[in-house]
Amino acid sequence: MGPQEPVTGRVVSSRLCTRGKSASFIRHVAIDIGDTPLAGRFRAGQSFGIVPPGEDERGRPHKLRLYSLASPSFGEDGAGRVISTTPKRLIAERTPQREGDDPEDHRLFLGTCSNYVCDLRAGDEVLVTGPAGKRFLLPAEPDKHDYLFLATGTGIAPFRGMALELMRGPGGPTSSRVEVVMGSPYTSDLLYDDLFSDLAAEHSNFAYHPVVSRERRDDGGPGEYVHGHLERRLDERFREMLESPRTLVYMCGLAGMQIGVFRMLGRHGLHGPYLKLHEQIADVDPADWTDDQIKRRVRHGPRCMLEVY
Ligand code: NAP
Repeated sequence: MGPQEPVTGRVVSSRLCTRGKSASFIRHVAIDIGDTPLAGRFRAGQSFGIVPPGEDERGRPHKLRLYSLASPSFGEDGAGRVISTTPKRLIAERTPQREGDDPEDHRLFLGTCSNYVCDLRAGDEVLVTGPAGKRFLLPAEPDKHDYLFLATGTGIAPFRGMALELMRGPGGPTSSRVEVVMGSPYTSDLLYDDLFSDLAAEHSNFAYHPVVSRERRDDGGPGEYVHGHLERRLDERFREMLESPRTLVYMCGLAGMQIGVFRMLGRHGLHGPYLKLHEQIADVDPADWTDDQIKRRVRHGPRCMLEVY
């Protein structure tokens, strides 16, 4: 069976996974694929496809959309038979996309797939494909590394799976250091906050850092982004970890985070193992990198895993 060929899964559960009453609607949706050839084939960090019902405006069946897996390799059920994801409702206004589009058309736009996935109820059938993704995975020997997981918004999904795999996997909790940094606009938008707080309370080698951009911090300082948080706490918390040869950095979420984190690493001379520089900027002081240079001339190195849109 090809990876693109859909199989029929069945929704097991759907719940909001934001911390409080949020302006966003983000759900944790679990899907049973136990009776399909996909059972047991997913690894934490991969994505899977969902094929929404119906047709596009040209009358062709909708194509699949990719969703990040939020479950560990052993699934929600411990046996790889139930996978999960973290869909966010799209609620927007139409804007002109191509020449000839009506510039006055600003009607409500709800997209095609994410609201469909968020609407699904336990018991509903859903067409699923997968798995997709080869690099955004835990290493073959997880205990030989420490982990810095950096997320914005729904980019936390793969880190839920990886954190569960590392801390609650069948082999027992890892002794590796695991730090999760999660960026969200408001405290109410933090995702899986209970789970990460519980893991941090249960394990001294697991730390959880919620980073909120639009509220003041507990210490009275202004809101911040993930890279700003790393930089502010670099010497006290993160430098030693970033300098350790064991550490792997994973980033998932908004593309802007990548620029900020790359710049922060460069500015503090920490980029060596995490970034690859194009020869055209090899001589430029990282403190002087422009956004454009970072976008075009800096790539992730072997110890940095990226999934940003
Ligand atoms: P969101 O709630 O809109 O934003 C999360 C946080 O990121 C907010 O605090 C936001 O701050 C902050 N932020 C904005 N610009 C930033 C920048 N340049 N650097 C650092 N932080 C920044 O996030 P969301 O709506 O859930 O979106 C998450 C994104 O992740 C989506 O684009 C989604 O497609 C992507 N995603 C990718 C994957 C994948 O690649 N597999 C998986 C899941 C999600 P302010 O809004 O206050 O500026």
